[in-house]
Amino acid sequence: MNFYGDYHTHSKHSDGRQNEAEIIEAAKEKGLKEIAITDHGPLALGIGIKDTKVLEKMRLRIDALNQLNPDITILLGVEANIRDLDGTLDIPISAMELLDVLIAGLHPYTIPTSVSDGINLYLQNSFRHLGRSQREKAIRNNTKAIVAALDNNPRIDILSHPGLFFYIDVEEVAQACVRNEVLFEINCGHGYPHVSDIMVAKEQGVHFIINSDAHFTATVGQLEYGEEAMKKIDIPPSRIVNLEDKGGYNRWPKRSKGYIH
Ligand SMILES: [Zn+2]
Ligand SMILES: [Zn+2]
Repeated sequence: MNFYGDYHTHSKHSDGRQNEAEIIEAAKEKGLKEIAITDHGPLALGIGIKDTKVLEKMRLRIDALNQLNPDITILLGVEANIRDLDGTLDIPISAMELLDVLIAGLHPYTIPTSVSDGINLYLQNSFRHLGRSQREKAIRNNTKAIVAALDNNPRIDILSHPGLFFYIDVEEVAQACVRNEVLFEINCGHGYPHVSDIMVAKEQGVHFIINSDAHFTATVGQLEYGEEAMKKIDIPPSRIVNLEDKGGYNRWPKRSKGYIH
């Protein structure tokens, strides 16, 4: 199976081991026509992009790299952190304007907006193994945060690894993806979500994107986990936005309807 692009990779600007040029070379070797470099937002503790100035420099460098590499389109993105129950992201709108692609997701070790968000979201999540009622409370809070993020941030393109580290109500999250035309990610680096959750999302009618979440050059464009999931539960190709014949990111459902960043 061939893919048009891989839209989730990390460089040395966050916790990736590879620089931009190495990501681009690896993507070309895999035969990709588009590659997005999407480092962690600033509030990922110790690993996030330092500030908007770093993004401004990355924007200039990626523009230059596009000139040097006419055979592939290089996109700048960020994997923003959802940092509270209202779905607030950790990058300002001014920074979003520098980006081609915006990913959002829940991550452990994110600095929350307030102490109560820290308790309700991150601490509650660490109680999820302590019994049913604690787990249900964690699911409620995690789901609420993601749904609010999708409903309140129209620029989000992709929800990364739904349910990873944070249990969620997959049906409710998938419905929010459909409502907001946000792509539901099948994340091959983490092998997540599990096939059973992908099936639930499929039934809700989401569009999927299959990404590597590569932190090393060896895994750029490595999308086998998604291919296998596609086959196992028979996801029609029309529901995967980054297969080779789909064209680039400008043809994703939200964007093809005239949505402009
Ligand atoms: Zn992530
Ligand atoms: Zn990532």
